[in-house]
Amino acid sequence: MFETKIMDIIRSFDECDCGVKHYTAVKDVVIESGAVNRVGEILKKNGFPKSLLLVADRNTLKASEGIVESLEGFDLTYKIYDNIRVAEMEHVEELEEMIKGKDMAILSVGSGSVNDPCRLAAANQNKKLCIFGTAPSMDGFASYSSPIVNKGFKESFPAKSPEVIIGDTKILANAPAYLKSSGFGDMIAKYIGLVDWQVSAMLTGEYYCPKVAKLTRDAVDILMGMADKVTVNDEYTAGKIFEALLMTGIGMSFAQSSRPASGSEHIVAHILECVELRDGIIPNYHGEDVGVATLHMLRLYNQLAEREEIEAVKEKVDWEDVYSFYGSMSDDVRRMNTPDTVTDHVDPTELKERWQEIRDLIHSIPSYEECYDAMKKAGCKLTVQDIGKDEKLFADCIKYSPYMRRRLTILRMIDMIK
Ligand SMILES: [Zn+2]
Ligand SMILES: [Zn+2]
Repeated sequence: MFETKIMDIIRSFDECDCGVKHYTAVKDVVIESGAVNRVGEILKKNGFPKSLLLVADRNTLKASEGIVESLEGFDLTYKIYDNIRVAEMEHVEELEEMIKGKDMAILSVGSGSVNDPCRLAAANQNKKLCIFGTAPSMDGFASYSSPIVNKGFKESFPAKSPEVIIGDTKILANAPAYLKSSGFGDMIAKYIGLVDWQVSAMLTGEYYCPKVAKLTRDAVDILMGMADKVTVNDEYTAGKIFEALLMTGIGMSFAQSSRPASGSEHIVAHILECVELRDGIIPNYHGEDVGVATLHMLRLYNQLAEREEIEAVKEKVDWEDVYSFYGSMSDDVRRMNTPDTVTDHVDPTELKERWQEIRDLIHSIPSYEECYDAMKKAGCKLTVQDIGKDEKLFADCIKYSPYMRRRLTILRMIDMIK
């Protein structure tokens, strides 16, 4: 039997030594077998209004058999999509139109692309939101931001975390194996994210909370040990993956940044996705690209850490080359890097002097080989070929991705390390 302690964990963050008041909008989390039959009861307990907009796609609604019956006594309006793979601004506008000015809440039934427009529509119209997760496929369930494609570009919009999150372990375990493997890939990425965050805190003084970092670290460590059960239909494992994904989402709220959940590997996956959307290609599942990018970063970071000593220099960037790679996206990239860029705040002398500490940080996470083995057991995609990308494009995304964010990662410092 799976039982979640997530609400106790949230409460344990009321007081934190880092000095920041940690906050999440999440008020209730229920992860249990048969939760689908209790959705109505859980919403009532949490003060949801009688009028509900149930948003799903045909697959997620079918997977959630019993949910409509559990909502007896509610006035239901439905928005059932055929199959959303990419969340677009039109979806958000459509939902907003349906709830505007009404005493209504949204119940989003699904994962990723179903939840994202709901999160933004509920935020814009100031309505309550419940997410009923149907697959442990990515870590966005508790997130406060929504990645939405707007006029061909994927952007992250500030939205809202759901007040209530529900997962039925039976349904989560029954989800297609590739979605569960994708969720696993998204979790392994946290190792890189955590190292990048710590290194940036060390060299730029960026805010860092050890307790939030540990929340993510513990969640991913637990999953590493369950790798061989990821693709089987096992309620306990599915519940654990879902819980780990929620925990990192909540960690992002606590840190008010995506730092605890994403490092250089997520930026690589993001730029890949931007390029594909621009070219009219439907991107892979988030955790598939992220997982493969994670393996590349692990190999690179492990290779760097083999060096006992380094020389460090100021970064020299051929900005015209960078902007020409970004093409129609170059204005945004320019804005991130002018009048100053993130590496201006890294002192090469300090980088050299603290190299041993950086090596220790890289060695504090499982190695490339360990993560590769775990991902293989978990049925994850492992190579650039597995995710159907062009090798040259993938290499270019690694090379140019660090410039699209104002965020220090070890990948960004490659040119400073001699
Ligand atoms: Zn803290
Ligand atoms: Zn992710």
